[in-house]
Amino acid sequence: MADDDPGEDPALADFPARAPDTRRWCFADQLGPHFLDDPHQEVLLVESRAVFRRRRFHRQKAHLLLSALRHRAAELGDQARFLQTTTYGEALDAVDEPLSVCAPTTWPARDFVLARDGVQVLASRGFVTDEQTFRRWASGRGGDGGKRLLMDDFYRAARQHHDVLMEGGEPTGGKYNFDHDNREPPPKDGSSPAPEPWIPAEDEIDEQVRADLDRWEADGDVCFVGDDGPRLFPVTRRETLHRLRDFLAHRLAAFGPHEDAMLAGEPWLAHSLLSAPMNLGLVDPAEVVQRAEKAYRDEGLPLNSVEGFVRQVMGWRDYIWHLYWHLGRDYRHGNALGAHAEVPAWMAELDTTDLDAACLSGVVGDLRSRGWLHHIPRLMVLGNYALQRGIEPLAMTDWMHRTFVDAYDWVMVPNVVGMSQHADGGVLATKPYAAGGAYIDRMSDYCGGCRYDPKKRLGEDACPFTAGYWGFLDRVEDTLAGNRRMAQPLAGLRRLKDREAVVEQEQQRGTDPY
Ligand SMILES: Cc1cc2nc3c(=O)[nH]c(=O)nc-3n(C[C@H](O)[C@H](O)[C@H](O)COP(=O)(O)OP(=O)(O)OC[C@H]3O[C@@H](n4cnc5c(N)ncnc54)[C@H](O)[C@@H]3O)c2cc1C
Ligand code: SF4
Repeated sequence: MADDDPGEDPALADFPARAPDTRRWCFADQLGPHFLDDPHQEVLLVESRAVFRRRRFHRQKAHLLLSALRHRAAELGDQARFLQTTTYGEALDAVDEPLSVCAPTTWPARDFVLARDGVQVLASRGFVTDEQTFRRWASGRGGDGGKRLLMDDFYRAARQHHDVLMEGGEPTGGKYNFDHDNREPPPKDGSSPAPEPWIPAEDEIDEQVRADLDRWEADGDVCFVGDDGPRLFPVTRRETLHRLRDFLAHRLAAFGPHEDAMLAGEPWLAHSLLSAPMNLGLVDPAEVVQRAEKAYRDEGLPLNSVEGFVRQVMGWRDYIWHLYWHLGRDYRHGNALGAHAEVPAWMAELDTTDLDAACLSGVVGDLRSRGWLHHIPRLMVLGNYALQRGIEPLAMTDWMHRTFVDAYDWVMVPNVVGMSQHADGGVLATKPYAAGGAYIDRMSDYCGGCRYDPKKRLGEDACPFTAGYWGFLDRVEDTLAGNRRMAQPLAGLRRLKDREAVVEQEQQRGTDPY
């Protein structure tokens, strides 16, 4: 399964844990105190403008990254040397003292730090389970004839290892997973199951960031997509803890049951909105998990919600992180279903003007205004659409990476290439996450206001997801013929009396706006 032998790739070496007596170079996603060996350690922070020149990011993502970095620099004061340069190389050339850095979160960044003289690379931080522990768990699994690296198995092992939601060796409540009680459709009256989340207030650093971005854009130096807007996500540890406390006190109780629901007018529902600050490294996810467990024990929050949330953080988040390394450098290039369509212009531009499909229009509009969607619009609307229409997985990964405020290479590659686009041939998910309009209709309130009918696959009002589902199966029939979990859907395809007409209709529709 793995492309590389972890033992041989220098980026996957067993790095030492600490180097307290060096200046600590912290990347812009390593901003919390847990990336230092002692609270007074000297720090190097680098703001590189080249990052924004190279790719077209969502405006709010650029704002968030710069704001977080500058807030950390301000917080550390004289303890930090803060260099604002064009490239990282330029910044490092200006530093003439030994540095240490926690292993960065991408392949290219690890290669870069390993190639620099005078930089000591340490074990990565910012995840509940460390890389060595994952490797021990994974060894003996995953190879030919070995056990698959299933998230559920990893999560169980992590719960036991870290003693989270456990009672004397047994899982709290008698089982590891309470999803049976979750995944309900949205409330029928269209109201959110939880109160509005706490949103941080902007300050003078945000003002400066906004002015700089405006100037760079006006100079033609950088180019963004998406609306500028009030900053919605935390940029400091203090703000992150505020959001976490608010989530635990007011919103976590409703998290489980409505985790998969979508509402046109309620983007946040009961989600935690913690991915962006966690991925900036502002809070240690182990602390997030501990506080959620404490809320269960002290406040009696429902176990199905608490367990569901803990599984997202120490299960899914860690699992995705470890797979990014385990699956190797070439994993991103997988294209098992031979998908070669371009990301359509309306998607790239976040332009809803011509979109008749209410779900696509709603989701793309939300993304334009906030740079964030919860996991079901990502997976079952945008991802499902790209899968059905054969958009090239790497192009989709790049687009999502640039457009979501919480996106980084380590988290986008496995989530898009593996989970959402099945481009790895089934390493991460045993069958593609393809679904017709009936799923979206059940889990959202979009279809009621749509000009298409989720039950129709042929004709003027044929739902692009329902018809697209059959078009997709027709396209991948031969490739997925050996997949046992696809036997039933493929048998359904073969029984379809209007198969030819539906396929032709969807080929004509392509990825054009409707
Ligand atoms: C196609 C696709 C792309 C995604 N891209 C990203 C991404 O770029 N960055 C990102 O952080 N998450 C990504 N996710 C996972 C998930 O959608 C987001 O973490 C979540 O929606 C963020 O909102 P939240 O903090 O309110 O999460 P909640 O629903 O409150 O969940 C709690 C936490 O669980 C973690 N989590 C849950 N699922 C995943 C997962 N599959 N991978 C990693 N972490 C997970 C996140 O840290 C999240 O904050 C992606 C999922 C899909 C299907
Ligand atoms: S009918 Fe189809 S296109 Fe319209 S909202 Fe429902 S799933 Fe989306």
